[in-house]
Amino acid sequence: MLDCAIIGGGPAGLTAGLYATRGGLKNVTLFEMGMPGGQITQSSEIENYPGFFEHDKTGLDFMERWQKQCFHFGLKHEMKKVEHISKKGEYFTIAIEGGDSVEAKSVIVCTGSVPKRAGFKGEDEFFGKGVSTCATCDGFFYKDKPVTILGGGDTALEEALYLSNICSDVYVVHRRDTFRAAPPTLERVEGKDNIHLITNSIVEEAYGDAMGLQGVKIKNIKTDEITDMSNTGLFVFVGHNVQNEVLKDENGQFICDMNEWGQVKVDLSMKTSVDGLFSAGDMRIEAPKQVVSASGDGAVAALQVISYIQEQQ
Ligand code: FAD
Ligand code: NAP
Repeated sequence: MLDCAIIGGGPAGLTAGLYATRGGLKNVTLFEMGMPGGQITQSSEIENYPGFFEHDKTGLDFMERWQKQCFHFGLKHEMKKVEHISKKGEYFTIAIEGGDSVEAKSVIVCTGSVPKRAGFKGEDEFFGKGVSTCATCDGFFYKDKPVTILGGGDTALEEALYLSNICSDVYVVHRRDTFRAAPPTLERVEGKDNIHLITNSIVEEAYGDAMGLQGVKIKNIKTDEITDMSNTGLFVFVGHNVQNEVLKDENGQFICDMNEWGQVKVDLSMKTSVDGLFSAGDMRIEAPKQVVSASGDGAVAALQVISYIQEQQ
């Protein structure tokens, strides 16, 4: 019987493991289907994590140190995919890929939320090298320079407002002429002189060389006209896939309360609606989707787990 099972080994899960084991829990296992580290290992540069300001280091370099520290206090790692979690009576059952299962007194789920790709030419090639899904992470690299955004939802327009305070001009490319975003957000965007809405248009291609993105070809889908935008960063905001499958039971029903976008409802202690089940990081409601906040969530959840286990004894 585990004191705590942690599902997902990104910044949230690793930090939860560090705090849980260093806080005295003896039997804590992190289930991570790949190498621990999470999404940030795909990043070529991170400069907004306090205390880490080394321009020649990648996200992978950054997470290497975390692993050493987080496993130092006795956290165990199983490189396995968790299929689903269930709770019958007091304890949880963690069903693992391949048919095995393990019981746990408490669970912290930190399986993240992955930005969707739009599918244009060059998107994968230049992802992390000029094509980004995170304005908070990468906006500053384009200080006083023009950027292009793809998408017409709330995220795209809210991030356009954020980027308009940093960048010289923000070009929002949207495939229709009406926006999915909330009307007040659209109004604020329309009131900004340096945000330009390019409707009925898609990104046809992102192009560049070994150094990274050099420009973007935008196609008007009504006229087929192509506009070439050079020297621009490209931000893609076309929705997210929340990695919430582990929280579904055998009938496909969520075992805890979720919001309409599939994010886990938690309170400020990272508690879900199920006793002993916690969630942390990018998959929770209102997540800022940053390493520093995911990590903070993990610490909060682990401290709560320690209290929860003590109360059970
Ligand atoms: P994740 O990092 O997504 O980790 C979730 C983990 O769960 C993954 O490792 C996954 O393999 C595992 N998992 C999923 N399902 C299962 C399962 N069923 N069983 C077992 N394991 C599972 N943030 C910043 O603060 N600054 C930046 O500069 C920055 N740059 C970024 C650049 C890129 C290219 C990307 C993609 C993201 C960037 N971010 C940045 C965002 C940051 O990476 C995320 O906010 C953070 O990683 C979220 O942490 P998490 O632990 O919640 O989830
Ligand atoms: P979203 O609402 O699904 O919007 C995605 C946008 O990307 C849409 O405009 C869509 O176009 C476009 N798109 C999708 N696939 C595309 C493709 N392949 N190529 C080009 N464009 C593509 O996603 P989101 O903006 O991330 O928001 C997700 C949910 O969170 C929404 O319900 C939103 O309201 C909510 N949210 C709320 C707030 C807030 O309340 N403050 C903030 C952020 C997000 P179409 O419009 O043509 O489909």
